[in-house]
Amino acid sequence: MTINRRNFLILISATVGYMTLGACQASEDNSSSSSTSSITTSTPKIETEIAQNTGVFQLTPLPYEYDALEPYIDAKTMQFHHDKHYAGYIKKLNTAIAKYPELQDKSAEDLLRNLNTLPEDIRNAVKNNGGGYVNHKMFWEIMTPNGGGQPEGKIANAIQESFSSFDDFKAQFNQAGLNRFGSGWAWLVLNKDGKLEITNTPNQDSPLLAGNYPIMGNDVWEHAYYLKYQNRRSDYLNAWWNVVNWPEINRRYETAIS
Ligand code: MN
Repeated sequence: MTINRRNFLILISATVGYMTLGACQASEDNSSSSSTSSITTSTPKIETEIAQNTGVFQLTPLPYEYDALEPYIDAKTMQFHHDKHYAGYIKKLNTAIAKYPELQDKSAEDLLRNLNTLPEDIRNAVKNNGGGYVNHKMFWEIMTPNGGGQPEGKIANAIQESFSSFDDFKAQFNQAGLNRFGSGWAWLVLNKDGKLEITNTPNQDSPLLAGNYPIMGNDVWEHAYYLKYQNRRSDYLNAWWNVVNWPEINRRYETAIS
C-alpha cells in the first residue's frame, strides 16, 4: 500500500486524536491510581480504537462522560451505543467508500443527499452506515447533562406555531417513536417546503434521503434503551426529554432556515 500525503495526514490525526482520548479515559477510569498503571491498563483499548479509526470518517469521543445522562440513559447503554454500534457504522462506511477515492472528500450528509448517484454496489452500505454515522453524530450532540426543560430561541416559537403547544409537540413526537415498528428513529425535520414536520424512519434511514433536514431525532432501536427499559419504549421516550439539548437543537434549526 502506498501512503500518499492525504492518507498520511489522516493517519497522524487519527493517532493524535486517540492519544488524547486515551489520556482522558486513563484519567477517568482510575483517578486514584498512578498515571503509569492507568496507561498500562488502557493500552489494548487504545490500539483497538486506532485500528478502526484510520478511515475518512472518524470516531470522536462523546462530548460528555458515559454516565452523564444518568438516570435517564445509563452508562452501560451509552458505552455500548457509542463504542460498539456507532463505531461499527463508521468502520463500515469507511470500508464502503475505500475503493472510490472520488467520494472521500465528500461529507456523509452529501453522500446521503445524492445516494442515487453513487456506485450501485455501495449504495445500500452508505444508506445504512452513512445514516448510522450522521444520525448518531447528531444524537450525541442534541443530548446533554442537565438538559431538558423548555425549548429556547427561534425553535421555541416555531414549535409553538407548528404544533400549538410544546406538550402537543412532545406527545406527537413520542407517538412517532412508538409507531415505528422495529428499529428506527423519530424525527422533527424541516421539510422540503420549509415547514416543521414530525416523522419517523426505519433502520438508519436519514431524513436527508428524502430531502428533509433533521432538526432533532430520537433513536428507537432497542440498543438505545433495552438494558434499562427492556420492552418499555414509551418510558424511554418520556424520560428522554430530560436530556434534550435545546440550545444545540435551536442552533441546528437556525442553520437549517438560514
Ligand atoms: Mn443507535
